[in-house]
Formats: sequence, C-alpha cells, structure tokens
Amino acid sequence: MGLRFYNTLTRQEEDFLPLRPGEVRLYTCGPTVYDYAHIGNFRTYLWEDLLRRHLEHRGFRVIQVMNLTDVDDKTIANAREAGLALEEYTRRYIDAFFEDLDALGIERAEQYPRATAHIPEMVRLVLRLREKGHLYESRGSLYFKIDTFPAYGRLAHVDPGTRAGHARIDADEYEKDDPRDFAVWKMRKDGEPYWDTELGAGRPGWHLECSAMSMKYLGETFDIHTGGVDNIFPHHENEIAQSEAATGTTFVRYWMHAAHLIVDGEKMSKSRGNVHTVRDLRQRGFDSRALRYLLLSVHYRKPLNFTFEGLAQSQAALSRLDDLAFRLEREDRPAGGHPELRTAVEAARAGMLEALDADLNTAGALGHLFDLVREAHSALDASRAGREDLKAVRETLALFEAIFGIRLGQHGILEAEIEALIKRRVEARASRDFAQADRIRDDLAQRGIVLEDTPQGVRWKRKGS
Ligand code: AMP
Ligand code: ZN
Repeated sequence: MGLRFYNTLTRQEEDFLPLRPGEVRLYTCGPTVYDYAHIGNFRTYLWEDLLRRHLEHRGFRVIQVMNLTDVDDKTIANAREAGLALEEYTRRYIDAFFEDLDALGIERAEQYPRATAHIPEMVRLVLRLREKGHLYESRGSLYFKIDTFPAYGRLAHVDPGTRAGHARIDADEYEKDDPRDFAVWKMRKDGEPYWDTELGAGRPGWHLECSAMSMKYLGETFDIHTGGVDNIFPHHENEIAQSEAATGTTFVRYWMHAAHLIVDGEKMSKSRGNVHTVRDLRQRGFDSRALRYLLLSVHYRKPLNFTFEGLAQSQAALSRLDDLAFRLEREDRPAGGHPELRTAVEAARAGMLEALDADLNTAGALGHLFDLVREAHSALDASRAGREDLKAVRETLALFEAIFGIRLGQHGILEAEIEALIKRRVEARASRDFAQADRIRDDLAQRGIVLEDTPQGVRWKRKGS
C-alpha cells in the first residue's frame, strides 16, 4: 500500500496521488511574526518537516512554500506599541524564527515569501475577484461576499446560509464557525501602514495573503496545504473561497491539519500566557533534540499535552537510541549474520515505513523501532549478532534519523562507563554522601539505565530491555 493521508476536506483517509508524478507541491502556513513562535507553533512546523522528509524518503521532489505574515492586525498593533516601523519590528522575529528552525533541525522550505513583498500579486487577485462580482465595498474596504461562493463552508463543515450577506467582519481572526463576509482589502487607517494601489490606499487582509502567495509559487492548483486545526476556520475556508472564486478551479487537493499542543487541557497560545519558546527551553538546558522527539512522538492528529516529565521521557528514549548507535559503532562482531536478528530488522523497517505511510503514524513507527532496540541489545548481549547484523541495525537507525530529523550516537553511554558510575555510587554511599549517590542513580535513569540493589551487589539493565 502506498501513502495515505487524512484529508480535512473529505474527513477521510485517502490515497495520496500528486498532480505531477514524482513531485509534491506543499504550502505550509507560516508564522505571524509579531512575537517569538512558541513550541505549539513548532509542533505544527515539525510535523510539516516530518511530512516533507517522509515524502522525500519515498522519492518525491518536494516544493514547499511557507509564508511569513509580516503585516496583519497583530503585527501592526505590536509594532505600534513598540514604537517601531513595521519592517523593523518584524525583522527581529523573522530572524528569531530562522534561528529556532535551525535549532530544531527543520529543513528549509524552497521559499519563504513575505506578505509585504507581494502586495502587487494580492492586488491582482482582488481585481480578479472584483471583476467576477464576488466583492463589495463598504467605507473604502473590500469584502468577500460569501453567498457568491456556494461551496463556502465545505472545509470547516459550517453552514453559511444564515449570516451571508448580512454580517461582515474586518478583523483577520474571528469566532469559530461564524461565517461572515470578510475583508480582503482594508482601507487605510490613521497610524497604520498602507500601500497606494489601484484599489486605493490600504492593506491586504490576512487570508488574501496566503491565497496570493501560494498560487504565485505553486500554481492555481497544488497538492497539499497544511496548518494547525485553528487555521481551518476562518483562514483556510476563506483561502479556498478567494482562490477558487478567482480561478474557477480546485485550489488544493489535500488539506491536512495538526491538532494542538496543549498545557493543562488548554491550547498553548500567547493570549493564554501559557507558552514556552524554543529559546527559553534551550537556555534552561533542555536538549532541542529531545524537544523535537517529544513534539513528533505523538500522531499529529492527536492533541499533545506538554509536560516537563514528557520532555524528560523523550530525553530518556533518545538516550536509548543513542546508546544502541554508540554500541554498534564500538563493538565488532565476526562476519556474517544471524537469521533472528535479520528478521527483527526487516520487521522493524517494514513496520516503520508502513506506519508512516498510513497518515504519518509516528507513534506506531517508534513502537517498531524500539522493538528492534530491545532485540538488538539482547542479541548483542548473547553474542547472537554478526557484522552484517550490526550494519543492518545501524541502517534502521539511519532511517529514523532521516525521517525524524534527529542524529544519534554522539551521546551514547558504554557499559564501561556505566560500571564506572556504579562504582562511584558505591563509593559515595560508603562515605555516606547519599545526595551524590542519588544524583548518579538519577542521571543513569535519565539515560534509560535502571539500577537494582541486590544482596549480591548492584545490577543494572536498560529500561525496557
Ligand atoms: P500563527 O503564528 O498564530 O499564525 O500560528 C502559526 C501556526 O502554528 C499555525 O499553523 C497554527 O495553526 C499553529 N499553532 C498555533 N498554536 C498552536 C498550538 N498550540 N499547537 C499546535 N499548533 C499551533
Ligand atoms: Zn495561511
């Protein structure tokens, strides 16, 4: 079976077939650069990175575009508060965004178009819509009349019937499931940035920005459009209306949306004040690989509850992978292979790829990988592994590295090291330095090594093996 993705438009898992063989055109809604992106935002960006990597692994050339929203209600309000010109204000957060992308090992998209650099394209799209009778003017602003687009509401499954033509909205973001005529072009207001255009002096609405920029770089119809679930309505619903009303053809073939990162049952968001940023966590000494692992370890359509305990567990899971990679690198075995381990490797590889093909089931893929980790350690312990097996296990770890975007092996721990630490712990206890002894035990636990005090002395094992 090939690739299958859940399409928000049809509410079904579908076979994935790109428009052009061998090539995938992907638009990923990017950050609104009015502040630092938080790790909730990065859950979405990381999942999109995994989508990209998996498509690449499956042999597709991926053309990905991610917009930078550098003009909208929020950027304007914050820049004004900071007393800075819009461009000066947003530049700081654009730079920070790219630093965070690099810290998390996110592959660069092909294009990062900025809204302010695409005003002419947006004006042209508005003119097309106006010519076709989809817009009306009110006090110098232009609104999309949603009852001129019968398919309105299909993505979000909302009924446009009641309010169409009666209520209109200026704000870029508005109530869930409340269909309204929305602004595509907002007339200049005092103290706000504006552009002098054929439409008069003003600025684009947020939704229009994504329609104009995605179609410019990817064509009028492209394969996949993604975002977080909060983007479904009104943002993506409005993008569809604007794009399809202008072109008369299908805008996007597969719509995919990530569930939110939550904290204590609530969406992580700036307005709730419950955010962590990548830079905060790094400053506090957390490994960005562990953060990446945590944010990718849960299937993207399931909400993920962020806790520091979860982050520590991710660190421990990674340590187990590191240790195996380290062990494979250091240990040599006689030439040849053992059928049992070979079978385990094959099962893990096939299982991982099948899980990822099935709507990017990362949790399932990791389950198969850890089955192999256990098998490999016990095969090595029992001398049931040959040089060919070591290579094959390493290649399976490399598959994880490529698709999950996490390098392994630099942080591994060898048995000799474990034994040395246990010896130090015994010495610490002998001199009644229990704090030090506990610290050593906790550090080892962090790395997946569990100690057991027995009458015969201390024993250790790898967690889960
Ligand atoms: P924004 O900068 O607010 O436009 O958001 C950028 C991206 O992050 C969008 O795709 C949002 O859907 C996504 N997003 C926002 N909050 C969260 C969250 N708590 N968890 C996951 N994704 C989020
Ligand atoms: Zn967008």
